[in-house]
Amino acid sequence: MTERLDHFIGGEHRAPANGTWFPSTNPATLETLYEAARGDEADVRAAVDAAQRVFDSPEWSRKTPTQRGHLLRRLGDLVGEHAEELAYLESLDNGKLLREMTGQLKNLPEYLYYYAGLADKVQGAQIPTSSPEVLNFTQREPLGVVGAITPWNSPLTLTVSKLAPALAAGNTLVIKPSEYTSRTVLRLAELADEAGYPAGAINVVTGLGAEAGAALVADPRLAKISFTGSTRTGSAIASQAASRFIGCTLELGGKSPNIVFEDANVANAAMGVVAGIFAAAGQTCIAGSRVFAHRSVYDELLERVSERASTIRIGDPLDDATELGPLAFEDQLAKVRSYIEIGESEGATVRYGGQRPDVGLPGYFLQPTVLTETTNEMRICREEIFGPVAAIMPFDTEDEVLRLANDTDYGLAAGVWTSSLQRAMRMSQRLEAGTVWVNTYRAMSPMSPRQGFKQSGVGIEHGLESMQEYTRLKSIWINT
Ligand code: NAD
Repeated sequence: MTERLDHFIGGEHRAPANGTWFPSTNPATLETLYEAARGDEADVRAAVDAAQRVFDSPEWSRKTPTQRGHLLRRLGDLVGEHAEELAYLESLDNGKLLREMTGQLKNLPEYLYYYAGLADKVQGAQIPTSSPEVLNFTQREPLGVVGAITPWNSPLTLTVSKLAPALAAGNTLVIKPSEYTSRTVLRLAELADEAGYPAGAINVVTGLGAEAGAALVADPRLAKISFTGSTRTGSAIASQAASRFIGCTLELGGKSPNIVFEDANVANAAMGVVAGIFAAAGQTCIAGSRVFAHRSVYDELLERVSERASTIRIGDPLDDATELGPLAFEDQLAKVRSYIEIGESEGATVRYGGQRPDVGLPGYFLQPTVLTETTNEMRICREEIFGPVAAIMPFDTEDEVLRLANDTDYGLAAGVWTSSLQRAMRMSQRLEAGTVWVNTYRAMSPMSPRQGFKQSGVGIEHGLESMQEYTRLKSIWINT
């Protein structure tokens, strides 16, 4: 009998009100891993009830900031102690490499510790007034119940990026994880319970986006929505949030340029290009999917990237030797393959890859794919593919590549490879992207704020700034 996972509401596991569950599949083996509760409005209502009750309770509202910091630190300790278990469960769920997930989740406590340290540093200011009898000061207050909706590609890290500042600032949460990766977010809620959070401070309702997700977004008691996922879903959520005048933080899609100049160390740049697009089988928001190489180094870069792509070991994500796992689910594989076909029909050439490799497992595997003869106008260069597909294009001048790089609806990240400090400065000033990496790619830290420009997002995640996203400011005047 397949294991069934219930919601986590009010500090306990709770079966879905409608009595239905849905299967979660291992994308490498196609085995059913478990069935998760298929939440709907009734479950969401119960979860928001629980979160609101805790938010209003003295048990939570009278906790000192220092006590909130201690709780978050304790949760960080527990996440650290369970990092290997969580990485294993996450790898089974979404097919990312166990090796990579273990590294990522061993680092996850740092996110919780960072915001634990900020819990008692949320402060206002004393504002000068025109009279010595009048005192004006500001204070920052928590918002209330935060609805957090997260995707499947880094389920825990992306959830913790919201949960940590939200809890540090004194909010409570209802989380709706992706339907493809329910398990580890449920485990996180259990660990929070073990850490000593009041029952109902952190609730998890699993289910489909159109059902549980939509019900959560529609709940009028939410004080804020924090969403990471596709630009399409983000746009629908933003409209609803706007109609109720509640804030939302949106971390959305990307079509990031990775630019290699003639003065770059091409061997290093090629490794950066490969990691930028093939890590996690290209299923990262920051994937460097549009590669621009100066014409004088284009052939060398293409040769190096194609050569490396051809030697990447594809296979079982649990195997330490594997370098590329499967795509996360069947529709995802179909979508990526259809984009390769669209590219070819638009005139692109598959220099390497594009095929399903035989790795001895039935899952959703696809070769890393390098496309040439592409232009920035093609759909494969304009739309997010979210797979291991790189389009490599030559350019001649800095102005030209800057125009091409910025000619996109997205603005999440950009990479620049150059040995010129002046060029590094010029490019990082002029690129329309919330994160710019020079001679590196994919670096990230809880301390470093990030924001998606254009259709890549609204609001800031990570860093000091993220605390502001989970508080509101009150100005108080006292006539003494
Ligand atoms: P998605 O938008 O399909 O789903 C994200 C979440 O939203 C899931 O939990 C889903 O169930 C839920 N959802 C779907 N429809 C909904 C609705 N109508 N109402 C409420 N919730 C709904 O995205 P995905 O396929 O899970 O994730 C991939 C996308 O996420 C990519 O576009 C990627 O670039 C983006 N992403 C962005 C970042 C970032 O930090 N900018 C990080 C990771 C992923």
